[in-house]
Parts: sequence; C-alpha cells; structure tokens
Amino acid sequence: MNWRKELVSSYTRIEDLLTLLELDINQIDPLISAKTYFPFRVTQAYASRIKPRDPNDPLLLQVLPTNDELVSPQNFSDDPVEEEPLKNNNNLLQKYHGRALLIATGACAINCRYCFRRAFPYQHVIKSRALENAFEQISRDISIKEVILSGGDPLILDDQELKRIFESLDRIKHVKRLRIHSRLPVVLPSRLTKRFIRLMRDTPLQTSLVVHVNHPNELDSLTIESLRRCKESGITLLNQSVLLKNINDDTETLIKLSEILFLAGVLPYYMHMLDRVTGSAHFEVSDAEALSLEAQLRTRLPGYLMPTFVREVSKMGSKIPLAQV
Ligand SMILES: *Cc1c(COP(=O)(O)O)cnc(C)c1O
Ligand code: SF4
Repeated sequence: MNWRKELVSSYTRIEDLLTLLELDINQIDPLISAKTYFPFRVTQAYASRIKPRDPNDPLLLQVLPTNDELVSPQNFSDDPVEEEPLKNNNNLLQKYHGRALLIATGACAINCRYCFRRAFPYQHVIKSRALENAFEQISRDISIKEVILSGGDPLILDDQELKRIFESLDRIKHVKRLRIHSRLPVVLPSRLTKRFIRLMRDTPLQTSLVVHVNHPNELDSLTIESLRRCKESGITLLNQSVLLKNINDDTETLIKLSEILFLAGVLPYYMHMLDRVTGSAHFEVSDAEALSLEAQLRTRLPGYLMPTFVREVSKMGSKIPLAQV
C-alpha cells in the first residue's frame, strides 16, 4: 500500500483500536472527549505492534487518551518551552547558535499524548507564504549553518514538496546541513520511499535524519529493515526519546532500546525529560530517578550507545544536560 493511503486508513476512533486489541472499554476508561482538543490518532503500522489484551502495553500508553490527562499541576502549562514566536505567524524558531528550526507542517501521523504539541495552535502558523518568509529570513542570517525541518512531522509532506524545500535551502550558500526530525520512519515505515532516500542522498547539503523511538517494541523487523536501507544509502540516523513513566523508565528497557536502535543503524542522541505541557503530568519521571537511570545505563552500555539526558529550559542557548539542571 502507498504510504498516503496507509496514512488515511489510520485509527481515529478509540473504539476501533480497542476492538483490534480485544480490550474492553471498562478495563481502561479512556478519555473519549479527547477528540475535542488533541484528537486520538494512530497508524495501523504502530497499532500492529501493540500487544493485544494488555491494557498496560507501553506503546498503547503513549497514544491512548485517559482521564489522567485532566489532572494538571501548576507547573504544567500550554507552552512549557515558550515557543512564543510561533504564535506570531512565524514558523522559524531560532533559539540556538548556528541552527534554525523550521516548522514545515503542523500535522502528524500519530498523536503522542505526552507531546508538547498537544496544546499548541500550529495549524494557525502554517500560512501559504510562511515557508517563503522563512527562506528569506534564513538567507539574511549568515550564522545559520543548519536548518532543522520539524513540526508537526515534516515527512507528512510529500517527496515533491520536500524536494522544493531542499532546493530552496541549497540555494542559500551559508546553509550546509539539513536535518529532519520525524517519527514517520517508525510509525509509518513505508514513508521511507526510494525517492525520499535518493533526495536525502543526492542533495549537496549534509543530511541527517533524527527519528523518535521510546520503546524497543516500536521497532519491528519491517521498520528495522527500512531504517537499515537508509543507513546503507549513507544517511546519518540518530534517535531521540522522551523518558516516560511506566513506559521506558527502567534500565533493561533502555538498554534494549539502545541495542535495537544500533541494529537498525541508528545511534541514540537525546533522552528528553518531559516538557511540562498541560495534560501530561502522569508521564513525568523525576530528575532524581532519571539521574539514577542514566548512571545505571552508563555502567551497562558502550559510550556510543548512551543517549544524553537533557531538559529543554526556556531562554537557554542549548538543551541542558540533566546533571546541570
Ligand atoms: C532542540 C532544538 C534544536 C536542535 O538542538 P540540537 O542540540 O542541535 O539537537 C534547534 N532549535 C530548537 C528551537 C530546538 O528546540
Ligand atoms: S510531534 Fe512527534 S511526539 Fe509530538 S505528536 Fe507528533 S509524532 Fe508524536
């Protein structure tokens, strides 16, 4: 099946996913009203990796809206990383030296319940002229060496649209590197088309692809195979994860994750602490627990399979290593 068709056939009704998983609605008490603000959305490829009849499956917990989302402590807000510029119809974020993050689209293939995007009005920032404005802004600032396509999920755009973006960036002499942050290679592996791989390989820009995997079960054999194909074409592959309570906050799971990523040709990059967005408090792991996990991992994994544990702190010039927060 073509990836676009596959995307359209995603689960958007909680009841349908529960039927697939042979789960009773009373067993898990989902938050059906979630559709009204941050809709439920899961691809079939991702759903197929959730174990049936297990209400605590670590993949299911990432996508299923529950009543826990209604609990919101005071230090959780709608804009925890203060991406205020986006609200002013500007889709270029410049927080760190040498890098600019371009919000190429507001859409995603899957809605992860812990995502900071859940409370963000991205739909309003992607106006038709916005991309052109961003290219102009980038060409005026010679300090920008790397452009990061993010979102939403930039691989929701089709190969033709991506090609146009690549070409526009390549025309700007001081831009040397192009990075794509996307969860699609994992939640919709068919998105890694031959054409896309060729685009990444053949552009004169130095490219990298940062995927997003939180749990080893997210990498089934088909996904591993398609990531390896990318790697074999010479594309640098990195992974970022979010540390999530009851999902990946234990040493054995994180060791397995690093090992399976390497098998797929991907190196661990960041382990993010949760951004404190409204509705996600039940996913938070304390700094003390995270530091202890990090220390245990260090004694078990080779250095190159250790992700850096970081937190995004607003107004800072980089992500901050957890030990320094
Ligand atoms: C995370 C992020 C980046 C990339 O940071 P790296 O440390 O280079 O991965 C760039 N811009 C913004 C706004 C970010 O949030
Ligand atoms: S931006 Fe990433 S983490 Fe957030 S909902 Fe989309 S795929 Fe999930």
